[in-house]
Amino acid sequence: AHQSSIRILVSPGAKPTNVAAVLHPLSSPSTSSKTMLYVSFSYFQSLLSHISFRCAQYYEANTHLQISVLAPNIPAMYEMHFAVPMAGAVLNTINTRLDAKNVATILRHSEAKVFFVDYQYVPLAREALRLLMVDSQQNQTSQSPSAAPESFIPLVIVIDDVDSPKGVRLGELEYEQLIHMGNPRFVPTEIQDEWDPISLNYTSGTTSEPKGVVYSHRGAYLSTLSLILGWEMGSEPVYLWSLPMFHCNGWTFTWGVAARGGTNVCLRNTTAYDMYRNIASHKVTHMCCAPIVFNILIEAKPHERREFTSTVQVLTGGAPPPASLLEKMELLRFHVTHAYGLTEATGPALVCEWQAKWNNLPRDSQAKLKARQGISVLTLADVDVKNMKTMTSVPHDGKTMGEIVLRGSSIMKGYLKDPEPTSKAFKNGWFITGDVGVIHPDGYLEIKDRSKDIIISGGENISSVELESVLYRHPRVLEAAVVAMPHPRWGESPCAFLAVRENEVGRKDDVKEADIIAFCRKNLPHFMVPKKVEFLPELPKTSTGKIQKFQLRALAKAFQIA
Ligand code: ADP
Repeated sequence: AHQSSIRILVSPGAKPTNVAAVLHPLSSPSTSSKTMLYVSFSYFQSLLSHISFRCAQYYEANTHLQISVLAPNIPAMYEMHFAVPMAGAVLNTINTRLDAKNVATILRHSEAKVFFVDYQYVPLAREALRLLMVDSQQNQTSQSPSAAPESFIPLVIVIDDVDSPKGVRLGELEYEQLIHMGNPRFVPTEIQDEWDPISLNYTSGTTSEPKGVVYSHRGAYLSTLSLILGWEMGSEPVYLWSLPMFHCNGWTFTWGVAARGGTNVCLRNTTAYDMYRNIASHKVTHMCCAPIVFNILIEAKPHERREFTSTVQVLTGGAPPPASLLEKMELLRFHVTHAYGLTEATGPALVCEWQAKWNNLPRDSQAKLKARQGISVLTLADVDVKNMKTMTSVPHDGKTMGEIVLRGSSIMKGYLKDPEPTSKAFKNGWFITGDVGVIHPDGYLEIKDRSKDIIISGGENISSVELESVLYRHPRVLEAAVVAMPHPRWGESPCAFLAVRENEVGRKDDVKEADIIAFCRKNLPHFMVPKKVEFLPELPKTSTGKIQKFQLRALAKAFQIA
């Protein structure tokens, strides 16, 4: 696909002249629609490679050149997934929900030489660059021989997207200018070794400090192919970008949609209104999202919804999708496929592949089967659940828990400049995920918990995931998280944190702790029932929308149980 052109759909409100300027002077609007443009990447690549060369000389960069981007799901972000690797550089997409300190840490750690910033994130980038500058000056004046090496201030290029909120300009160059300066006869840089890095993705730090995960060309290629084939993504899909492209390179669909000759519908904001409007008007066929987005779609107000005629294939992962939400999504014409993965596995590593024999089961049984994390499809990863002491596989009985381990080409080579965490992350060649699971007799894997989140009550392991899936079946529960709370008799016991939806008269306070406990008693063994239920307006979440259990654990510590 990268030899031809790639269709990028831009906001229908955009003026065609602006669109053409932002993209490429040679791009020719499609005859069928003014919002469809064919974009050639050659100008862009050639200029980038020119810059890389200049920077490499200037900074005497050693092996690879990192190029960082702080941008939402816009055409420029998509283009960079091709242009940067084809210029022989490494793409580092930065999570736009981080604060300036973290952005500065990533720029410093990755030693980014070029930094692309969408106008929307100029204030964040400006502050991050200021911190980087202060740090650099301190290092220069420091007499200490142990002082960190001088931080480099990257070349900044601002992206003036058609939808960008305009503000103060930052940097030396604009993205459009860069494209105008390109050379159409540029020949893409040939990759010397398929294990060469293609991108650098920092973990979202749900459980520890962010680490720079290096993806290889080989891993990204195999992951992309496995996902488009495993998910049976046919040719010319219309793909809605609700999953951020900065997250594991959009689970590699940045490259996958191009490989299927698809259309990218780029979304700056994932509001219910924007998602429904785009699904309906562009006849979206595919999208990826974390389960948290289900709530946005399910809870949408009538004025935010739009009727749509197609069935949208949704790939979800990143957190356990409660079976009750899967059921509701199907009723709304979203056909959900569940995947499991992590940053270190180039995104999805397992897919809960559908079996024809499940077709005639009742909807709730189907949802329960689908809530399992699945199997490895094609070349995604080799997976096992092991007892870590003996490194032996657990029996396929759906009961014996062990640590989920992965190996294969799509598993990271290591963390950038972090040898110790890298060696700790592997055992006998297996990558240790930090997740606890079981394998069912049919070979499907099911996560029980992150090893840090499992609750050990009176010697029994309680899966917070299992408990949360029951809580989500309560009609008033909107968000649920269960954590361990200290208990004088049992050591630990489950404590549930809930955000509830309003009743018909807009009230939430009519849902009581006793109702929830009674509901759990009906649906769970006694020892698993939460000993305490706490209501919050909203549960705390990470930058990727995952519930921050460490914060809830800190709150639960303070609860006294008699
Ligand atoms: P972080 O570890 O910083 O949250 P990741 O995005 O890499 O960043 O998260 C990976 C983790 O998310 C996995 O180790 C697992 O605990 C959880 N996870 C991912 N997909 C699923 C899923 N389908 N079901 C349950 N948990 C999941």
